[in-house]
Amino acid sequence: MTTDRRIYSYSAVLMGSPILLKLFEHNESLAARVFRLIKAHENILTVNRPHSDIMAINHAAGRQPVVVSQPIFEIIKRAKAVSLLEGSCFNFTIGPLVKRWKIGFSGNTVPDSDELQALLALTSPDDVQLDESSRCVFLAKAGMEIDLGAIAKGYIADIVRDFLQQEHIENALINLGGNVHTIGAGDDNGAREEGGWAIGLKKPFADAAALIGVINVANKSVVTSGIYERYFELDGRCYHHILDPKTGYPLDNELLSVTVICDDSIDGDIYTTLLYGMGVEKSLAYLQQCADIEAIFVTRDQQVICSSQRQFSFALTDTAYRLAN
Ligand code: ADP
Ligand code: MG
Repeated sequence: MTTDRRIYSYSAVLMGSPILLKLFEHNESLAARVFRLIKAHENILTVNRPHSDIMAINHAAGRQPVVVSQPIFEIIKRAKAVSLLEGSCFNFTIGPLVKRWKIGFSGNTVPDSDELQALLALTSPDDVQLDESSRCVFLAKAGMEIDLGAIAKGYIADIVRDFLQQEHIENALINLGGNVHTIGAGDDNGAREEGGWAIGLKKPFADAAALIGVINVANKSVVTSGIYERYFELDGRCYHHILDPKTGYPLDNELLSVTVICDDSIDGDIYTTLLYGMGVEKSLAYLQQCADIEAIFVTRDQQVICSSQRQFSFALTDTAYRLAN
């Protein structure tokens, strides 16, 4: 535990990620309850262990429907709807490809294209049959696998936010491995008139503590997805963990990272992946229609592009990067 401006920080490693909780009070038992809550939901949603509610669905692929709880049915329904959006690069049935690539885990090799084609045939979101009345989920083809890796942290961050609010916590920050949620006006009263939490925008492929700049928000979620978080290099190429559901290869465009600022972290998590797939130009046009969702794009040519700054402010600190307008 450290104290900084009377902020108390608690950390853990869960969901394969460093987790940080900041409170304005010393409350170890509250921190322990938050970490238990995260762990309980990780146990339900994970696909990185043999058993979980999601793995029960995957094990029954091609054989039988599985009954799930209402919240799990809802998250699956949402993930399916987002996967079926026109042109969406979000695909929650990407599991067979994720398992094959093993990016971020040991034993990385590049699959050949025949192998990828065979696995792509198992990644049609339409093959996930949902029955609302019985809360049944059925993966129609053997070998199919749901993977909620692009939405689970956001879903859990919102649960933590709701829990802290029920506990009457007025100021807190939770960081689930790049998925940040904030409650209240935070610790950085100088940066915005109304105060705010200062959240670092990570510098890609640099030291873990290196930042491009600082995002300042209050009562918002800030989710970043980047190609530098989990990747491996082979023969001079970088293979990262966000896969293109059309090709089966890692998504390849001008982006190094996308950060989404919005109210609910589940939306932030979904949109980082969706916008990543759209690229900068399409995303900026798309976001003009979405007043509630804002984004910061970091490109390979070292530009930082903000969609708008209604819900946050951003200060660039690394002069190697340029702020585009
Ligand atoms: P992170 O916070 O780990 O960067 P993301 O929200 O970027 O997570 O999601 C990446 C994870 O989502 C991958 O590790 C994988 O489990 C899964 N995934 C990979 N590609 C896709 C995709 N196109 N659509 C949905 N999920 C994906
Ligand atoms: Mg995501």
